[in-house]
Amino acid sequence: MDIFDVIVIGGGHAGAEAATAAARMGAKTLLLTHRLDRLGEMSCNPAIGGLGKGHLVREIDALDGIMGRAIDRAGIHYRLLNRSKGPAVQGPRAQADRNLYRNAVFAILRDQPNLKIVTDPVSNLLFDKRNGIRGVLTESGNEVKSRTVIITTGTFLRGVICIGKDKTDAGRAGDPASIDLAKTFVRLGFPIGRLKTGTPPRLNAKTIDWEGLEPQMGDDIPTPLSFLTNKIFVPQINCHITKTTPRTHNIIRENLQYSSVYGGALSGVGPRYCPSIEDKVVRFSDRSNHQVFLEPEGLESNSIYPNGISTSLPEQIQKLMISSIPGLERAQILRPGYAIEYDFINPQSLRPTLETRAVRGLYLAGQINGTTGYEEAAGQGLMAGLNAALAVAESPPFILDRADAYIGVMIDDLITHGVDEPYRMFTSRAEYRLKLRADNADQRLTPLGAKIGCISGHRLKNFNNKKLELDKWRERFKMYKASPTLLSKSGINVNKDGIDRSAMDLLNYPNVLFPQIINMWPSLNTISNSLLNLLKSEACYIGYMDRQEADIAKFRREAGYSLPSSLDFNNIPGLSNELTQKLSAAQPATLGQASKLPGITPAALTLILAYSKRYQIDKYG
Ligand code: FAD
Repeated sequence: MDIFDVIVIGGGHAGAEAATAAARMGAKTLLLTHRLDRLGEMSCNPAIGGLGKGHLVREIDALDGIMGRAIDRAGIHYRLLNRSKGPAVQGPRAQADRNLYRNAVFAILRDQPNLKIVTDPVSNLLFDKRNGIRGVLTESGNEVKSRTVIITTGTFLRGVICIGKDKTDAGRAGDPASIDLAKTFVRLGFPIGRLKTGTPPRLNAKTIDWEGLEPQMGDDIPTPLSFLTNKIFVPQINCHITKTTPRTHNIIRENLQYSSVYGGALSGVGPRYCPSIEDKVVRFSDRSNHQVFLEPEGLESNSIYPNGISTSLPEQIQKLMISSIPGLERAQILRPGYAIEYDFINPQSLRPTLETRAVRGLYLAGQINGTTGYEEAAGQGLMAGLNAALAVAESPPFILDRADAYIGVMIDDLITHGVDEPYRMFTSRAEYRLKLRADNADQRLTPLGAKIGCISGHRLKNFNNKKLELDKWRERFKMYKASPTLLSKSGINVNKDGIDRSAMDLLNYPNVLFPQIINMWPSLNTISNSLLNLLKSEACYIGYMDRQEADIAKFRREAGYSLPSSLDFNNIPGLSNELTQKLSAAQPATLGQASKLPGITPAALTLILAYSKRYQIDKYG
């Protein structure tokens, strides 16, 4: 019988990345899921990227993950969000044609060497005598052996969907819940909680009165999500914007008791940053309207996703609510909105590799760890897949820290703090934003990926060529310099302080246009647009980067100090009982992780550091 290196349970966003990442590393990989036609299914909004999330997609892509490539084969409306702000917080986003996206994910998985895909859901896990993972038991009764297992079951563990007072067991609309697998986690004693989220009704495009609705154009030149994409060939469409009205809000207020979320049918914690329309009306009671973005779900599809009005009100009330919104007076609901509640595992039970502390060889990634969103799931899937493959090969783990990547920020947040509400990424979560830009993710991460062997030859060649070009142009832009007097002859006016300005400096002057720089140094004219934009980003932060690099060096010195896994926090003299309990529960792997636990003081860190050093000398000499 086959013994796999890695089994991935679930073919959503985490599962697709985990399976391809492990297989790229040469691990013999099996993906077990419910349905082939739902690989890469977008359970909610048909869009990838956005603020913070766009950074994650670029980082996944930089490590040769699949999400960026898939969306660039399916994107029908691209926008670079926060365009008016600094490059560090700009987020590329693309709306997807759902079918094209699924097809793209399917094609990438199908063509991935070392990867086998089987539609046979998993009901239980198999263990060896030392509580390490041995394989899985499928619902059809097959025992499949594997050295590692990655669970990426999203919202499926004891999932319950709810519309008004109606409740049904389901992983999402149209898919069964995973009940048996959820029981396995209970048996193993994992810390389990309940979270919830929701989705809006889908509307029939033909029944919307588009006249008079404000169109929302995509960018003239789409910004691809993958570093391998030069141009988007998918036809682009417009979205439209409408608003809820005071009548909509009255309908919602009068019927709050029938909403699953408000009427008490569901008790899990919902996403604060992606609230239902019921939440918005209650929390922002002074607002007379909320924007609704009408987003087509595909080029050929009649289905419209009304972004901003996720709801779990009964279907009849949803109809009333929709008909009170301008343009939607006659709109037909194709599928009602609903809420879903599901089990998640407290991610404090994970190591930085996403392996569980309790079971060797068992990894968890995606929404099962309390996150929400495709990009967050994909980032974790990628890291779990790489680390499972590395563990099988008995190679050192691949861990990104908070100064390497948003992926590092996310995993550190999850395993250090756990979650008490669905976790989503924001740029504000990252301390080192100037360095962690979406536009330089390949410069930061592709070389790290190449070292562990997860980057394809094609990408590596592309990356190396780009790097050579970038270095060459950066040198030139820094080398070309002129005095204020000389610059003024070319129409560039700067302070007459006698200090030379380089072409690189001038890229960051808001009143200097690129054609003026070309006028001064015509040979700079042949730089490509994408490299020019990268140099502009670098120029924008040039004065701040030294400071940030110094901060990063300090952070790494402190955070990088490893605490022995056998260290017993109960033995550290001088720590309060409360802190001892917190440290024992979280088992931080480094001093940096310890420092982020709530209530940890600098004095406590000094005690831990001193004790840990003494402990290591006593133990190892
Ligand atoms: P999923 O994409 O859910 O994939 C899970 C996979 O596991 C599926 O392929 C499933 O078939 C498989 N599976 C489950 N159990 C088993 C088993 N026992 N054996 C084998 N395979 C199994 N995110 C947002 O960012 N914003 C939102 O507003 C939002 N709203 C949502 C609303 C709803 C109703 C739902 C369902 C999700 C919503 N999400 C939202 C979340 C988003 O869909 C998830 O974050 C994302 O899909 C998680 O990816 P994942 O890979 O962890 O899990």
